[in-house]
Amino acid sequence: MKVNFRFPLFRLKKVIARRTPRFVPPTSAEKEILRLHIEKRLALFNKDYGFTYRRITIRNQRTRWGSASRSGNLNFNYRMTFLPPHLSDYVIVHELCHLGEFNHSKKFWDLVARTIPDHRALRKELRTIPLAR
Ligand SMILES: [Zn+2]
Repeated sequence: MKVNFRFPLFRLKKVIARRTPRFVPPTSAEKEILRLHIEKRLALFNKDYGFTYRRITIRNQRTRWGSASRSGNLNFNYRMTFLPPHLSDYVIVHELCHLGEFNHSKKFWDLVARTIPDHRALRKELRTIPLAR
């Protein structure tokens, strides 16, 4: 029996590459479109909350979809470009509500539920989408 040990790792990588399409980062124009979209949605949702936010940044984050700082800056993952609208809205509302509650307490989830009553199901769905690729 002839076994080829010459390029096993190379071959394995090829197989993995075929199964996992490489993540192509959005262009700066696509990121700008995303930022404008997020700004519009934030303004709409914030009519109810009335929080104050400052800078909205779109960045490459490997571990989360978004974050909020105590100074009122909101960061969103550029991979949101690839999310369906209901999940992208969930991320936007989630980060917006952190301006009211800087934690994941019941108070926080009550804030989220004001806009997205089925947030639990959406959060579960969002977890099935891999971030780092
Ligand atoms: Zn959170």
